Amino acid sequence: MSSLRQHKKKSIMKTDILKQKNGNQTTTNSFSIDDIGDDHLFTGLKTPMKADAFKLSDTEKKERIAILFEEIRAVMGLYLTDDSLKGTPKRVAKMYIDEIYSGLNPKNKPKVALFDNKYQYNQMLVEKDITFYSNCEHHFVPIIGKAHISYISAGKVIGVSKLNRIVHYYAQRPQVQERLTNQIAEELKGILGTEDVAVIIDAKHLCVSSRGIKDDASATLTAFYGGIFNTSAKIAELQNYLKL
Ligand SMILES: [Zn+2]
Repeated sequence: MSSLRQHKKKSIMKTDILKQKNGNQTTTNSFSIDDIGDDHLFTGLKTPMKADAFKLSDTEKKERIAILFEEIRAVMGLYLTDDSLKGTPKRVAKMYIDEIYSGLNPKNKPKVALFDNKYQYNQMLVEKDITFYSNCEHHFVPIIGKAHISYISAGKVIGVSKLNRIVHYYAQRPQVQERLTNQIAEELKGILGTEDVAVIIDAKHLCVSSRGIKDDASATLTAFYGGIFNTSAKIAELQNYLKL
């Protein structure tokens, strides 16, 4: 990568919101969509959602997506009445809303109960190898990975399966890995009332392995170390638990 291109990429990552202007397809920082190409950009902590994102009911969204997906398929020249293909638009619509993008809707956020830390356990708790499936928001193809979560109780504890559910909720959105990492961390900080939270994600992006550069061997690692975790001693301790 040339230094100019690296510089461009850094500048873009600092931008909070990437907006498209009408017509000329430039972004707020004047890079065109073609300039950005296959780079995966992190444009903010919040998933960019329209103000009227929930004006349509789930049923209405599924009906609309099925129509639009049928159109994509027709444009691609696929024979729409083939037995194997005719149910696909409805299947895709249902899968988008009820499954792989269900985490866009706050009503699907897992309900989390907290318990008092009666065991007086005050070391790090580590929940490792939480398998998740997400989808890259730049190509809409899968991200498959494992999340490792750790926290040190500030007086409350959370059922361990809820950690999996929080990961799955934020994974079920069009995502970038950096945002997924930070969204999980912020959620846990809020629920547990502590900064002492760590999230590590190790994932494969199919947009890198199945297309484009077609690199099947690489993986992407991201980490959030909050509070006491942001010290070399705690990072080493956590990584020792994870055998990283
Ligand atoms: Zn991608």
